[in-house]
Amino acid sequence: FAPVIALVGRPNVGKSTLFNRITKSRDAIVADLPGLTRDRHYGQARLARRSFIVIDTGGFEPEASEGIAREMARQTQQAVAEADVVLFVVDARAGLSAQDHDIAAYLRRLGKPCVLVANKAEGMREGAQLAEFYELGLGEVVPVSAAHGQGVRSMLERALAPI
Ligand code: GDP
Ligand code: MG
Repeated sequence: FAPVIALVGRPNVGKSTLFNRITKSRDAIVADLPGLTRDRHYGQARLARRSFIVIDTGGFEPEASEGIAREMARQTQQAVAEADVVLFVVDARAGLSAQDHDIAAYLRRLGKPCVLVANKAEGMREGAQLAEFYELGLGEVVPVSAAHGQGVRSMLERALAPI
């Protein structure tokens, strides 16, 4: 069976852009508009000779503000449950948010293999700007740029190595 990788993280960190980059498809809808990815979204990808499944998450209805948090939590939990490894995506430019802390706490509790991915890191030097993400207690921060493709391959190698 192919290993399953789930992309989780708060809205707008670049999960769908990363999904497209990994699956080399235009399947996931990427936009500044929130709420377009309505449900979990599956794709197939390959790294060298290894096939794996990728799950994108992040669907919610922009109007249904009350249900947003619950729906996102539900999706994240289902995707994480199905995954062999989780790519927890944060925004290197925006920095840490309360939602990042909540998701990190959830992932630490589960103890599922997890790679902390700092997206939008193009043109950034490692160090200062990424240091705060170590607060999440999930180990090494892996900088990538989903939009430019930087760091994505080595991040995937890291994610797939233990599974
Ligand atoms: P999602 O809500 O987590 O799925 O985020 P999206 O993939 O829809 O991306 C949200 C926004 O971030 C879009 O405007 C993307 O173009 C932008 N974005 C995604 N990846 C990168 C990146 O690597 N660098 C920069 N600068 N912007 C990015
Ligand atoms: Mg999305």
